[in-house]
Amino acid sequence: MRYPDEKIEEIRNSVNILEVVGSVVRLKKSGKNHVGLCPFHQEKAPSFTVNVEKQIYKCFGCGEGGNVFTFIMKDQNIPFGEAVRQLAEKAGISLPKYQEDTAEKQKVERFYVINEFASGWYQNNLWHSKDGQKALDYILSRGFKEETIKTFELGYAPDEWEGLVKAAAKAAYDQKTLLESGLALQKSPNTTPYDRFRNRIIFPIKNEFGRTAGFGARKFDESEDPESPKYINSPETPIYHKGRLLYGLFQNKETIRKQDIVILVEGYTDVMSLNEHGIGFGVATLGTALTPRQAQLINRYTKNVVLLYDADVPGVKAALRGAEVLFGANLDIQVVNLGSGADPDSFLRSNSKETFIEAVENRQSIVDFYSASLLAGANSGKDLSYNEKSERIRDMIDLVDSVKDPLKRELMMKEIGERMSADVKTIFKEYYRKKRSQYRTSAARGKNDRKIPDKPSYLAEIDRIERDLGSIVINSPELSQALLDSIETEDIRSPYLKKIIALVKSSKKKHYTPADLISAAEEENLQKIIADLSFDPHEFPKQDEEEAQERLLQVAEDIIKKFKLRRIERELVVLQEQIKKAEANGKNTASLVAQYQELLLRKNEVAHPR
Ligand SMILES: [Zn+2]
Repeated sequence: MRYPDEKIEEIRNSVNILEVVGSVVRLKKSGKNHVGLCPFHQEKAPSFTVNVEKQIYKCFGCGEGGNVFTFIMKDQNIPFGEAVRQLAEKAGISLPKYQEDTAEKQKVERFYVINEFASGWYQNNLWHSKDGQKALDYILSRGFKEETIKTFELGYAPDEWEGLVKAAAKAAYDQKTLLESGLALQKSPNTTPYDRFRNRIIFPIKNEFGRTAGFGARKFDESEDPESPKYINSPETPIYHKGRLLYGLFQNKETIRKQDIVILVEGYTDVMSLNEHGIGFGVATLGTALTPRQAQLINRYTKNVVLLYDADVPGVKAALRGAEVLFGANLDIQVVNLGSGADPDSFLRSNSKETFIEAVENRQSIVDFYSASLLAGANSGKDLSYNEKSERIRDMIDLVDSVKDPLKRELMMKEIGERMSADVKTIFKEYYRKKRSQYRTSAARGKNDRKIPDKPSYLAEIDRIERDLGSIVINSPELSQALLDSIETEDIRSPYLKKIIALVKSSKKKHYTPADLISAAEEENLQKIIADLSFDPHEFPKQDEEEAQERLLQVAEDIIKKFKLRRIERELVVLQEQIKKAEANGKNTASLVAQYQELLLRKNEVAHPR
């Protein structure tokens, strides 16, 4: 089952491919297109191209290509229906419910189902078992209220090897899923599975829609092996990706949207602590550095991100790293200095909520934070040397470089100049010097990079004349009809091109776009080929409309001629067979031979017109 085509089209037309792709790839305008570094293969010079007019993208390095839906699918490794839902939400378009029931969806669904069963079981242990009581006592002793513990659905994994395994078997959950979800482990195939999480407090990790994607599990018992890590987490599964989820986002997304602010903290208990104090707009990463995808996730709810950091050197460095990723997703960043060594959990235990809110209200711009902590000589207590100072200015200029909005960049550079008592003009000069040298290195590398990735074989298989035909069929619906009327599909060699023509013929729209055809094509390679052919090889920069049209007609004529020749060649082969047969049977071949010669003459005429 699929969503209705009109819905899919409505969604595609309501989102801007530049914005969707731009949240993952930094794009720069280049002629009619935008280019950037391909997110699907390693490259140093940009060959990843987006065409806004056609609403498609295409990588000339690795051959990836498609429309907004295929981009999201590929980038986040999610099925089509999920990509449609995500973009529908972004565009504010409501979708009919329960339309989609594909095998793909069911495959993903069974992971959620088993996680939700496990989560219920862990919670039940926390609240209603004798062993769970010591875990609950521990959490309560850390100052958390029952309400907060329930909001975040904390649980307890008992000190047993087969607790969950047996409970799942009893409830008739299939063992394969239990193992694949990482809730249970196996020493070797065919041995009895055992629980991954034992004697730990369980933190369910939800996706933004409230489905349980995985778990974090914290050690709390003093008698446990001191060598074992404080936190362990679910392994990566089809639904659990550390870099794509944010702890607390589901519980707090409404507040984040309403208050238009998010506080990025480090740990699960930091988020809980903030919530408990009525500051319900915190989220945390899952023990790793912030990724561009997480920044993008935040971008759906607010553009204002507050970072809490110590003003010590590692704190400042970490702030800068996080900031680059956030700026890359077009978010605004401000920093709250909680003082040395303070995390919000411990800060809130020893200070009032009001003090915390005041600190948040007094938040600084990142430039302010960075320069203030540096000029104070945060670490050594002495002033910086000129060398150190200029080095730090360059660090900040690097940061400016990750900001997309040129006006914002300018404001930041002015601020850097003011804070570091440097001439603003010098800061600008330094920035452009850096840009120029970046450009030079990437241009120099570009030359060597160009031929590294081979064209995928399915592209190479299509010969030049059929590529031209495909390009016209995809890009020029008006011309395409006339062209297709004058050739015979039998003479088309590429099975992909045949499929594209079938798509065009079954299209309900007269003026379809490449992105329409990509939506209609269900096969991944076919989608890539359509994207590839959408970038018309006959489009030249600086060509005016009339010139371009003229050229296009020339190409069309050439195609018609080549296909005429193909048809004649096909008929020649048939005649030759017939002549052979007739000779073998001792029949008169004169009329067949005459036909053959006539056809040869026509072939010559078509190939070399007078
Ligand atoms: Zn690529």
